[in-house]
Amino acid sequence: MQLLLVEDDLPLASSLRQALQKTGYAVNHVGTGNSALHAVKVERPDIVVLDIGLPDIDGIAVLKKLRATDKTLPVLLLTARDSVDDKVVGLDSGADDYLAKPFEMTELFARLRVLERRLSTVKTSEITIGQVCLDTVDQRVTFHGQELELARKEYMLLKSLMENAGRVMTRPTLENRLYSWGEEVSSNAVEVHIHHLRKKFGNDFIKTIRGVGYKLDAAQV
Ligand code: CA
Repeated sequence: MQLLLVEDDLPLASSLRQALQKTGYAVNHVGTGNSALHAVKVERPDIVVLDIGLPDIDGIAVLKKLRATDKTLPVLLLTARDSVDDKVVGLDSGADDYLAKPFEMTELFARLRVLERRLSTVKTSEITIGQVCLDTVDQRVTFHGQELELARKEYMLLKSLMENAGRVMTRPTLENRLYSWGEEVSSNAVEVHIHHLRKKFGNDFIKTIRGVGYKLDAAQV
């Protein structure tokens, strides 16, 4: 899940970034409204966390510009001002949700999970393909009914593939979902995670589409 964090308060941005990355998000951070608009144009993230008080153009104006071309990109607004007016203006401008500072990290994670669920084509928290069952709320994975421990990136990769079963996921797409800008990524990082997943779920579970990427068949027994 790739998240664009738009926040000019650098200490806050860096602690948010760390906490979100630990939870498995790939986080890209910008500190101004204009750089946010540019970042979305270059590469559309899955979710935007947008501070209202920004140094160049405020978050509401950024949101309106985003909405002019993109009605569906999920946007969670952050603001220091806990006023009803801001909330109404924010939601009227097309925000999907709203969080007033200061907030607990757990509250932010909970709101993001709701947005994520809305994004997913799968509407229940449980996705089952063949003998593999993944619960996106509890973040648990079972194989033949046995719970398996997965490394964070392995879990995120498996989740991306399962949520998009039947579709080919390219290597760059998967890489973007797993890693943040500037994060050291070896050229075969995705392959290595796939290799580990195959050790756990067998070689046939994830198909390699040569020269393109990977795919899970939705109908597996
Ligand atoms: Ca701010």
